[in-house]
Amino acid sequence: MSAKIIDGKALSIQVKQNLKAEVEKLKEQGVKPCLAVILAGADPASQVYVKNKIRSAEETGIISLSFYFDNDVTEEEIITTIKKLNDDKTVHGILVQLPLPKGLDETRVLKEISDEKDVDGFSAYSVGQLLLGREGFVSCTPLGVLELIKSTGETISGKDAVIIGRSNIVGKPLLALLLRENATVTICHSKTQNLAEKASRADILIAAIGKANFVGADMVKEGAIVIDVGINRVDGKLVGDVDFEAVKEKAKLITPVPGGVGPMTIAMLLNNTVISAKNSLK
Ligand code: NDP
Repeated sequence: MSAKIIDGKALSIQVKQNLKAEVEKLKEQGVKPCLAVILAGADPASQVYVKNKIRSAEETGIISLSFYFDNDVTEEEIITTIKKLNDDKTVHGILVQLPLPKGLDETRVLKEISDEKDVDGFSAYSVGQLLLGREGFVSCTPLGVLELIKSTGETISGKDAVIIGRSNIVGKPLLALLLRENATVTICHSKTQNLAEKASRADILIAAIGKANFVGADMVKEGAIVIDVGINRVDGKLVGDVDFEAVKEKAKLITPVPGGVGPMTIAMLLNNTVISAKNSLK
């Protein structure tokens, strides 16, 4: 059996089309959704991510503001910019592209983004709200993963989900999201013993490790849903954390890299920005 591909690119286009219509409606009501992006340093991957986010925002009709800082920027300089954006009623979302240059305290910087504008969902407040099951912004990659699973029409409730990776931006929020959907969730990491055996019990397997082709067919249950969050560059080519060719013969549904989680991450950022703009009407 060869798995059906979960097409993140197509789904993201659909999400963005719906958002475009919502943005138009908001504009008619006098609200112009606006996302401010802060980039510090010259990390090439971050520059590409920021460029893609700004382009997608503009395609959707969302205004984007960019603030670029050199590598030697101080926490205070970034925080001053965040505070100005917090006070600016025309700005609905504030995103600080991570990682920040070495030596800067990301938690301290992110804490300054006002709760209503934390469209990346990375602040301690947003993460806490998610864990408590309260309203707040959820980080975009986990949200994108959830939308991809839901788009298949498969039931999540009662399923065994295994997440490989426990980072603050992917694994941990995903754990909370899948719990909220009533999955039984196991989270694995670099110290997990018998990882292959645990992963191969998953109805839903999510890989967020950062190691090319880490998940082989031996780690996958026949008929599983496999979501590959990983982005790795091998010989100039983007590959995920899942050995796609081998695993697709065993899984029922699988996301590709590129064209899976990546486009949905951006779509969810825009979605959060539009939610924030709508909230500003209340
Ligand atoms: P981190 O490096 O922060 O976390 C990686 C996780 O994988 C850690 O929990 C680590 O365990 C675990 N891990 C590492 N090696 C192993 C191993 N041998 N066995 C089991 N677990 C292991 O990465 P991120 O969560 O930030 O990102 C993960 C991947 O997802 C990357 O490729 C990244 O580029 C990609 N990504 C993609 C996005 C998208 O939009 N598509 C968005 C964000 C990330 P431990 O905690 O024990 O160290």
